[in-house]
Amino acid sequence: MPERTIYFDHAATTALDARVLDAMLPYFTTEYGNASSIYTLGRHAMQAIDSAREQVAGVLGCRPTEITFTGCGSESDNLAIKGIAYTAQKKGNHLITSSIEHHAVLHTCQYLERFGFQTTYLPVDAYGMVDPDDVGRSITDQTILVSIMYANNEVGTIEPVAEIGRICRARKVPFHVDAVQAGGSLPLRVADLNADLLSLSAHKFYGPKGVGMLYTRQGVRLLPQLQGGSQERGRRAGTENVAGIVGAAAALCLAQEELPRVSPRISALRDRLITGILAIPRSRLTGHPTERLQNNASFCFAGVEGESILLNLDLLGIAASTGSACTSGSVDPSHVLIAMGLPPEWSHGSLRLTLGKENTSAEVDMLLSALPGIIEKLRNLQG
Ligand code: PLP
Repeated sequence: MPERTIYFDHAATTALDARVLDAMLPYFTTEYGNASSIYTLGRHAMQAIDSAREQVAGVLGCRPTEITFTGCGSESDNLAIKGIAYTAQKKGNHLITSSIEHHAVLHTCQYLERFGFQTTYLPVDAYGMVDPDDVGRSITDQTILVSIMYANNEVGTIEPVAEIGRICRARKVPFHVDAVQAGGSLPLRVADLNADLLSLSAHKFYGPKGVGMLYTRQGVRLLPQLQGGSQERGRRAGTENVAGIVGAAAALCLAQEELPRVSPRISALRDRLITGILAIPRSRLTGHPTERLQNNASFCFAGVEGESILLNLDLLGIAASTGSACTSGSVDPSHVLIAMGLPPEWSHGSLRLTLGKENTSAEVDMLLSALPGIIEKLRNLQG
């Protein structure tokens, strides 16, 4: 086994940045107070949360009171969608989303369908792009929420969320943006995105696991989904994860500050991966050729199983992903690739490489020298 993992799976999660860890450490040890306690130790914890909220609000260009800290990106998506649905159910029962959302959104909509809600799942084109006009055409007088992701976690396509938000605002329908994959890569000013709600997750941008954030525009009403104490202005009961919240805010600020410096380097590595890998026979890029996340290079190879590629890369110490769901041994092709119209011969052979700031050119070279041989070997085995 090679000494160090070559990590090409930053869409799955990232390592904690050492500076973020430093910011968090006191809140595990000396500053361990409960933010609800009124004595000094408790007030310190509350001050740390308040200043983290201000930092996040600074990045999003919103009021601190519009930020709710949650337990993960999935919880932020659940709170946004269920919170709106249950609040607005007297007004209507119709939700609109896309067929390529993360399961945190898709399964939440499906869950609500058991309680009388109806969902329109918008199609996407061959690049995984939602047509904003489809959103406009699907809105009815029953529509209470539109939820479209900022960037897709499997193929990296960046959706036209600002345009979709403009349409929703004109029709007075709240617009939720799942920005979990965009947090470390794209601008997040909510006013520019025309977003009423926006979900983030700290572990996608070198922050800790177990902390999500939800922006809710002032005036948008949400029914809380966790009952208990009055933390987070009554939006989310439960003793706050102070260290995690401090780390999430520090990570978000760092990620957005570093973007201009890190971004050109990462996209250059991504483009090298794309050019190099497309030289492999019967390979194709998945996702949009230009409107894609700076760190996402995703592909399909005809006549190969994606999982076999991963296992072979793992033997070389290279961590990657198929980007598809794998449940107890049976491997279904990804719903994203199916929605993009990829035939099964291709969609089973998916490979997602997602880069991060610590990846080097030498690591890209390693991958590019190993992959053609792996694909050829697997094709011969199946042959
Ligand atoms: N939404 C998207 C687009 C994601 O990629 C993910 C995680 O991969 C989530 C939501 C869920 O985030 P978390 O892992 O923090 O629950």
